[in-house]
Amino acid sequence: MQTLVLATHNSGKVQELRALLVGLPIRVIAAADIKGAPVAKEDALTLRGNALKKAMALYAHCGHWALADDTGLRVAALSGAPGVHSARYAGPGCTPRDNRLKLLAALAGAATRAAEFRTVIALVTGRNEVRYFEGVCPGSIAREERGDGGFGYDAIFVPAGFSRTFAELCAAEKHAISHRGQAMRACQAYLRTQLL
Ligand code: IMP
Repeated sequence: MQTLVLATHNSGKVQELRALLVGLPIRVIAAADIKGAPVAKEDALTLRGNALKKAMALYAHCGHWALADDTGLRVAALSGAPGVHSARYAGPGCTPRDNRLKLLAALAGAATRAAEFRTVIALVTGRNEVRYFEGVCPGSIAREERGDGGFGYDAIFVPAGFSRTFAELCAAEKHAISHRGQAMRACQAYLRTQLL
């Protein structure tokens, strides 16, 4: 049976991805299950570039199919920032809350609060075999933090068509509309065509 390794050390993401791959004839393991698994530096200029770096580093290390995702929050009034730099927007060693507060401060007085989350998944099935799956979730940045769920920028992101932030939605509600949910469903559909 084919093995797929998930290039993430975020246990929440591992759980989400595993759930989506249930029922497919593939053994799913996490990077943490692989001895000496490399941690790729996320210094590419695009989400695609970072997702590819992470997945390819694992594939080269162990030879198993490898899947990695990279996500960015693009804010219109900030010309697309923080974008590919979302994880360290408030500087090296910053917390998710530091990032949220910096973004709220940057948008004080902004004419528009429009924003979108974008996720790219890279699936590597061979040295020259890479496929990308994308998801976009449009919305806006709230005026203050709201909600206790989720992670990252969830407490300040209001998806289009909702009045609640991602952090005020339950996991299933978020997953049904989120950037990552869309990209993962596209990836799952592709894997079904390859494996079933
Ligand atoms: P990564 O590519 O998943 O490492 O995410 C890059 C940055 O975006 C990190 O600061 C994450 O916390 C944030 N992020 C990724 N996905 C989400 C999400 O679904 N909601 C809120 N923040 C997210």
